[in-house]
Amino acid sequence: MTTVQTTEQAADQGAGGSTFDSVNPATDEVVGTHPIHTETDVAAAVAQARTASAWWHQLGFAGRTDRLQRWKGVITRRAAQLAEVVHQETGKPHSDAMIEIILAIDHTAWVAKHARKVLGPQRRAAGLLMANQSATVEYQPLGVIGVIGPWNYPVFTPMGSIVYALAAGNAVVFKPSEYTPGVGRWLVDSFAEIVPEQPVFQLLTGYGVTGAALCRSGVDKLAFTGSAATGRKIMAACAENLTPVLIEAGGKDALLVDADADVEAAADAAVWGGMSNAGQTCVGVERVYVHEKVYDEFVAKTVAKARDVRAGYDAGAQIGPITMPAQLGIIRRHIEDALARGGKALVGGVDAVGERFVQPTVLVDVPEDSVAVKDETFGPTLTIAKVKDMDEAITLANNSRYGLGATVFAKRRGMELARRLRSGMTAVNSVISFAAIPTLPFGGVGDSGFGRIHGPDGLKEFTRAKAIARQRFRPPLALTTFARTAKTDARVAKLITVLHGKRK
Ligand code: NAD
Repeated sequence: MTTVQTTEQAADQGAGGSTFDSVNPATDEVVGTHPIHTETDVAAAVAQARTASAWWHQLGFAGRTDRLQRWKGVITRRAAQLAEVVHQETGKPHSDAMIEIILAIDHTAWVAKHARKVLGPQRRAAGLLMANQSATVEYQPLGVIGVIGPWNYPVFTPMGSIVYALAAGNAVVFKPSEYTPGVGRWLVDSFAEIVPEQPVFQLLTGYGVTGAALCRSGVDKLAFTGSAATGRKIMAACAENLTPVLIEAGGKDALLVDADADVEAAADAAVWGGMSNAGQTCVGVERVYVHEKVYDEFVAKTVAKARDVRAGYDAGAQIGPITMPAQLGIIRRHIEDALARGGKALVGGVDAVGERFVQPTVLVDVPEDSVAVKDETFGPTLTIAKVKDMDEAITLANNSRYGLGATVFAKRRGMELARRLRSGMTAVNSVISFAAIPTLPFGGVGDSGFGRIHGPDGLKEFTRAKAIARQRFRPPLALTTFARTAKTDARVAKLITVLHGKRK
């Protein structure tokens, strides 16, 4: 018998029935029903992936590039259809769904084109002592990669692991969020049209229990994107088999505005960076630190812009619902705490938090140790604080257990301030731009996680470096033999003194 549960009910229990519903968070309409995969299902998928990974690897870079480029073409031609699935499962506007798909397509194009150059055999200098050797390194696939994804950017975020792992020659077993299983289904089905021979890219659906089984399944690496709290559980489960992990967790990103900044552009970036996708963005702007010289102007401009943004499900709304109902309570608590501790809401406030939607909220004078400044809010809210100089801005911005992205608006000191921010990525005079540049690594420090997706670093995450030293001719000074003579030792000592013994 098949039992059907709502997402919330089943998530509470971990897993109960054999299927679950995917529900539109704006309307409660059921938009799909998916299996809850068990530990046995997970083991079977990983076993199949192992065979598939060997087949995929032997296609070589050229064969995989061809398939990935064809898949990219399918996603591009059917982007509107995929955006509709994203729109239904997350509630975000169709046009926002299109943007994340476009970015994922661009990453796929880059990775298909550059995998060989980044990972293929490369000559290295052997050095004077080993001048008789030819040294090469190549980056070989790990085998089977487990990918566990979130719901907030259900295409862009997991694809940052999936396409990089595939391009490197691995098979992938993907467990999307229980809120966006239909998006995962779409991605896996469209890939299978282009790669019908073997299950190189498979789907598992379900809740945390299914994800935990994937962690324990013996995959060769687990790439996780989600909250820091779940990241800890993922690491603990993976530790049982010494399975390496990549953790892309949450953030509390700061935006800094210097005295010489383009204040209009900074306010625009703060409002879009903080409110787009209803604030449900890992690299969304949550805190703003503004030089006292431009504080009043920045606040006035930000307030005016935030008042023009509206959450809803109609065509005119710029932002959609809060996808995960449990988040509404967290957003409300952050705003209540900020106001109770002396903060002021210049836009929105506690009443901005409705049953499904949260209207933009701009808070000022919020104490730095309040939850609205310390914890990830994941709603369309901003806190703005005045600083006397940019040293204070850096100190406050860096005083966070998170360190994912950051933004700086400044003319003269933009690069300097960007370097001093404790974050994996920083955008200068624009916002979140780093995520759209396929060559740049993406990942965090501290509670935001570790490891990098995107770019050459992201490709290497899903490989092991293989070093090969090939002897070209017999060495004039043979070191690795018991037949080594005292004369050889003396010559080597002399050589090393000439090479490295100088005082300066
Ligand atoms: P989440 O941690 O609740 O869930 C993420 C995934 O983990 C889901 O697929 C879930 O089913 C699975 N999961 C839950 N418990 C598990 C367990 N015990 N073992 C294995 N898997 C388990 O996160 P979410 O609410 O889906 O996503 C929002 C969070 O993701 C936010 O904190 C956001 O900042 C973060 N995020 C980070 C990035 C990044 O690149 N750093 C990108 C997007 C989202």
